[in-house]
Amino acid sequence: MQEQLEAIRGRAEEEIRAAESLDELERLRVGYLGKKGELTGLLKQVGQLDPEQRKEFGQAVNAAKEAVAGLLDARRAEVARAELEHRLEAERIDVTLPGRNAEVGGLHPVTRMLERIEDLFVSMGFEVDKGPEVEDTFHNFEALNIPADHPARMMHDTFYFDGDWLLRTHTSPVQIRVMKDREPPLRTIAPGRVFRCDSDVTHTPMFHQVEGLVVDEHVSFAHLKGLLQDFLQRLFERDDLPVRFRPSYFPFTEPSAEVDIGCVICEGAGCRVCKHTGWLEVLGAGLIHPNVFGHVGVDADRYSGLAFGMGVERLTMLRYGVDDLRLFFENDVRFLAQFQAG
Ligand SMILES: [Zn+2]
Repeated sequence: MQEQLEAIRGRAEEEIRAAESLDELERLRVGYLGKKGELTGLLKQVGQLDPEQRKEFGQAVNAAKEAVAGLLDARRAEVARAELEHRLEAERIDVTLPGRNAEVGGLHPVTRMLERIEDLFVSMGFEVDKGPEVEDTFHNFEALNIPADHPARMMHDTFYFDGDWLLRTHTSPVQIRVMKDREPPLRTIAPGRVFRCDSDVTHTPMFHQVEGLVVDEHVSFAHLKGLLQDFLQRLFERDDLPVRFRPSYFPFTEPSAEVDIGCVICEGAGCRVCKHTGWLEVLGAGLIHPNVFGHVGVDADRYSGLAFGMGVERLTMLRYGVDDLRLFFENDVRFLAQFQAG
């Protein structure tokens, strides 16, 4: 039995030294020292010995158990240290590596175009004025020479509130406010959102306009023509961009004109965008109607004025070659990301 004890102890020491993991060591502990372990089992056999041998053998088994337990502890500490070192090595972080870039957003193409238009007019000495989006019928219609029974009101599919209020259908009411509040000479643009009860491939219920006016002595149609031709050629960055004026009708200007540019898609050869005419309509303009001056208290005998207006989405589509208006309002980042650089 003494020999059996020595054999078990020797095997235990060998296995413990060879163990490579904490799990393996725990399995060995249970196998030798646990309730059903081999060394514990030897103690149960003490009863089979002669009484005088019992004490001595019991002590020998306990000594062996202690030795094995001590060896387990020592090996456990070694293995734990090795495992920690291994983890530190494997999970090493190179703190000198460059970090991941934060994604940078960009301005919406319509915002980009609005700022571009503003910059161009500011560089020509214009001020920038803003006004309320909820307007009354006086500023949106009457003051602009569009009385209640005027057919032009039918051209504006207006969102009405109760009473006298509506969502402005153009930014012209800002010009009315400017002319009421300030004395000529005036030179200002009014950029902003406008609203019409209309929605299809080429119309959205909300869109952006920039309207502008100049009021001074001796303002003529020649000024209007020169100003808008210069603006459009700078906007599209082409000195030879063809610009033409066609007679038209607006209640608040007389004479009135629609302004076309040579098609920037096909260079005038004819394409789907210009409906094979070679021309694109981009602006409405004219000389301010004396009736408008009458509503805002400007002396029509002394002063004359020019006014113009443009749709920002349309200009943005032409400049960037976008063929569907709805893309501007779907906020698909794959579309928007294409405008970050310019
Ligand atoms: Zn074309």
